[in-house]
Amino acid sequence: MTATANYLAANKAFSASRPANQLPLPPSKQVLVLTCMDARILPEAALGLKEGEAHVVRNAGGRAPEALRSIVISQQLLATKEILVIQHTDCGMVTFTTDQARGLIAKNLNLSADSTGRKTLDQLEFLEFPEVENNVKADVEFLKKSELVDTNNITGYVYDVKSGALKQVA
Ligand SMILES: [Zn+2]
Repeated sequence: MTATANYLAANKAFSASRPANQLPLPPSKQVLVLTCMDARILPEAALGLKEGEAHVVRNAGGRAPEALRSIVISQQLLATKEILVIQHTDCGMVTFTTDQARGLIAKNLNLSADSTGRKTLDQLEFLEFPEVENNVKADVEFLKKSELVDTNNITGYVYDVKSGALKQVA
């Protein structure tokens, strides 16, 4: 079986094993978790969250500026009131700069200097950061300063990918 066929087989078993979902659309715990897409993080398991309880927004680094659209939708249309910003140890986002990423990607994709792809790439901010703890603080500050965000309950954490433990830093 191909990898895709395996996923589809797993989904068939998953769907057959559960009753039809009767949960309402808004998250019952009124919480949004923002975290990195790192494959070693399973936010629901790490935080004891179940289906229907939380919004989980993920991107490279768990960066707040990129997540703003989803956060505004979550709070304004789906009534969440609390935000947990969780970034983590050993994050790949500390290992490169946007300039380095652009150069590498242009080379990998063989983009010519005047191509549309190159122009798009040159406008893409990779939102890398040099150190995780200060970056969590900066992203929490970014949200607290935004007039589009309910700022009453925003906290920030570093997740240790080895131990699975959270350390609050903001
Ligand atoms: Zn990461």
